[in-house]
Amino acid sequence: MKKILVTGGAGFLGSNLCARLVREKENQVIAMDNLFTGRMENIKDLMELPNFTFIEHDITQYLDIPVDQIYNAACPASPPAYQKSPTGTTKICILGVLNMLELAKKYDAVLLQFSTSEVYGEPEVHPQVEGYRGNANPIGVRSCYDEGKRCAESLCFDYHREFGTKIKVVRIFNTYGPNMDPNDGRVVSNFVVQAIQGIDLTVYGDGMQTRSFCYVDDLIEGIYKMMNNSPEEFLGPVNLGNPGEFTMLELAEKVVAATGSTSRIVHCPLPSDDPTQRRPDITLAKEVLEWVPKVALDEGLQRAIGYFRTVLFGNSGAIHSREIP
Ligand code: UDP
Repeated sequence: MKKILVTGGAGFLGSNLCARLVREKENQVIAMDNLFTGRMENIKDLMELPNFTFIEHDITQYLDIPVDQIYNAACPASPPAYQKSPTGTTKICILGVLNMLELAKKYDAVLLQFSTSEVYGEPEVHPQVEGYRGNANPIGVRSCYDEGKRCAESLCFDYHREFGTKIKVVRIFNTYGPNMDPNDGRVVSNFVVQAIQGIDLTVYGDGMQTRSFCYVDDLIEGIYKMMNNSPEEFLGPVNLGNPGEFTMLELAEKVVAATGSTSRIVHCPLPSDDPTQRRPDITLAKEVLEWVPKVALDEGLQRAIGYFRTVLFGNSGAIHSREIP
């Protein structure tokens, strides 16, 4: 039996990962979440399973749980969510990873850290390779997340060098799909939810900034392979994302077309420090993990639209109220 802890286990990525891990009956999966952005509905089906346990707990407080593997996914990832309590976000990044590294060290477990393309900040190297050290603003509104995640990587590597702790680091690029909160505030959920409700799609700035969107199932497979099918000495960091690159205007147009919506596209102010471009170079993931994303944006959007329609319209057909944080 393998005891696996997933922090942020009720969140978007954490819950999708738990669903993947419980499929193997020899895995005993423990999801930890303080439900700040995580939601119980994401794991309600898993709660029935004998090899799944949920612990409501704040990762900034140490909790001693004997484990073999730790996936550290706990942290709000949507800009409006992580900027709601910036100091809280930094604490989650730093105290959270410290607590998990201590656990990994004590039980000789492997810690897989969920890092982010945000470590590259406003990238001057395009597409982004892992060797690029980034261009993050240390004092901007995004720095609680960017610098928090950068420091978390640094702590992982220092624990490895100083104590021999087993670590692995993945840098996750924009991901979307089922279990995203409709109120999450990120672009795919915003556009899809707006389109299916027939309200204006809010493109920030001129909409010429780019992102590369990975469907969640693809991402989870990459993370799984990093933990279970890569050599112990391969620590990363490794980029995981879909290299297909789109402007936000292109994304808005795709969503309108895919939903058959009558919504219009409107422009809103661009948030400060919003990166202009982002695309992963996934050569390393291809070579070491033999991983490539399989779901193209058009296909993934169809699946995401199906999910959001079910969440919003439910069984009653009523539109549940929503607000973008
Ligand atoms: N964005 C947008 N409209 C929205 C939400 C976001 O145009 O309703 C833009 C945002 O300015 C950014 C991109 O979409 O350029 C991706 O934003 P998101 O918050 O999803 O993630 P980020 O990659 O910025 O962390």
